[in-house]
Amino acid sequence: MIVILESNIDKNGERYTSLMNRLSQLPNVQVRVHEEVGTQHVLTELYLIGNTSSLPLEEIQSLPGVEQVVRISGAYRVLGRHKNDHRSSHFEYNGVTFSQDTLNVFAGLCAVDTPEHVEAMMRALREHGLVCTRMGAYKPRTNPYSFQGHGKNCMPYVFELAGKYGIKVIAMEVTSEQHIHEINEALEQTGRPTGILLQIGTRNTQNFELLKAVGRQQEFPVLLKRGFGITLEESLNAAEYLASEGNRKVVFCLRGMKTNMGDPHRNLVDFAHVPVVKRLTRMPVCIDPSHSVGTRDRSSDGILDLLHVTAQGVIAGANMVLVDFHPAPDKALVDGPQALRLPELAYFLEDIQLARKAYEARTALVKRYETTA
Ligand code: PEP
Ligand code: MN
Repeated sequence: MIVILESNIDKNGERYTSLMNRLSQLPNVQVRVHEEVGTQHVLTELYLIGNTSSLPLEEIQSLPGVEQVVRISGAYRVLGRHKNDHRSSHFEYNGVTFSQDTLNVFAGLCAVDTPEHVEAMMRALREHGLVCTRMGAYKPRTNPYSFQGHGKNCMPYVFELAGKYGIKVIAMEVTSEQHIHEINEALEQTGRPTGILLQIGTRNTQNFELLKAVGRQQEFPVLLKRGFGITLEESLNAAEYLASEGNRKVVFCLRGMKTNMGDPHRNLVDFAHVPVVKRLTRMPVCIDPSHSVGTRDRSSDGILDLLHVTAQGVIAGANMVLVDFHPAPDKALVDGPQALRLPELAYFLEDIQLARKAYEARTALVKRYETTA
């Protein structure tokens, strides 16, 4: 059961103390406090854990300081969408809003290679009005002899260039807790010119110690990729690990499943799960067409498979697109063959807008037919 308190409730005040006293008397029930500090409000939620099924909802609802009570109806306590659950499903980070209603495009380098490529990429983003990007510094590679990423050494120039070109959020993968500290240090050194969305890659979706470490910090929001060989439920539980540790600013990313049933694509595209994740949880949903498709093949209509699947995800309501671009794909150190080229950026964005408009038209249509559909 989740007990949502009046916003800005005084923790030392009479109402809060008497509420906590009352709750502490409930047999076999533990109370866990979660605080969400926003720019104007502090939202406090109490998670009642244990034997709560027999607790009378109305009684808890009438206690002092209580705004709303939600009975948990699924496995994902914090991130899940429960019956009569009116909690908001959006967060702001560094001026960018992430929600189940917005759409943010994160186009950028799979892996940072040279300052020149980073700058060319960011210049193109600014020219097209984009304020988000992806830049891999730590690359988890299948082969130990492959390029592993420039790590913390590239961060000062990546962050400074981001500041120069007005980039507000960079999706950057981390594979260990140490990387969070390195990112923080580099941001501090450069005067915090940009923000970071910590990415947990598909190989680490069930690295529970990493999930706990990333969940414990609340400085950075998180982009969690679906595990490539596990069920959707298992991946959503991984997201819940982050939230249960305190960080609920989580975006969930579909990136395809590893099976040769997806051939000739790199992975089997799973964007049919966009609405499923939005129904089961309150997380914004990202699609990664690059790692799903993995090639620049196009069909006889002239459209790249990569753009076809992007449109499929967006028309189904995706809230974020994570996509590989590169100024010189032949020189890319990782995933060059699947990268889109800078002159394709305008076309890519326009194609996304078409799909987004179609999605908006579809949501208007279902409302119009609500009584009959
Ligand atoms: C990536 O986005 O660069 C990446 C490695 O993706 P994934 O973890 O989905 O393979
Ligand atoms: Mn990649």
